[in-house]
Amino acid sequence: MPYEYDEQNIFAKILRREIPNDTVMETDFTLAFRDIAPQAPEHILVIPKGFYMNYDHFAAEATDPEILDFTRVIGAITHAIGVTPGNGGKGYRLIANAGHDGVQDVPHLHMHILAGRRLGRMIQPI
Ligand code: 5GP
Repeated sequence: MPYEYDEQNIFAKILRREIPNDTVMETDFTLAFRDIAPQAPEHILVIPKGFYMNYDHFAAEATDPEILDFTRVIGAITHAIGVTPGNGGKGYRLIANAGHDGVQDVPHLHMHILAGRRLGRMIQPI
């Protein structure tokens, strides 16, 4: 079943500048901004500007430059906020929720970058 992108989702509105965001980094293909309800001292969302609903949609249909840029922006932010273990940073976690079981609330691909405290186990027991 092909994905049907909802142009009224909140991140589409952010991309259209209909609602404000606290931008961390922006390129031709990618926007990164602070989460409105941070779950850690650093909680940044990275989204492609293209209309992709989740990671598998993006991986299948995005162009190589879009994928490269998205990946590089995530890496650049981890460096910028000083959390890369290779440079003495204390680490971070990337999360991209998808669909019902992934408990995705906003149907536009977003990578959560979480850092700034010990984050606990990868998933919580239900
Ligand atoms: P999901 O559950 O879809 O993986 O995560 C959606 C994230 O978007 C949540 O962490 C939530 O706090 C964040 N969020 C929802 N609405 C807004 C908004 O209007 N602005 C920003 N910056 N973040 C939002």
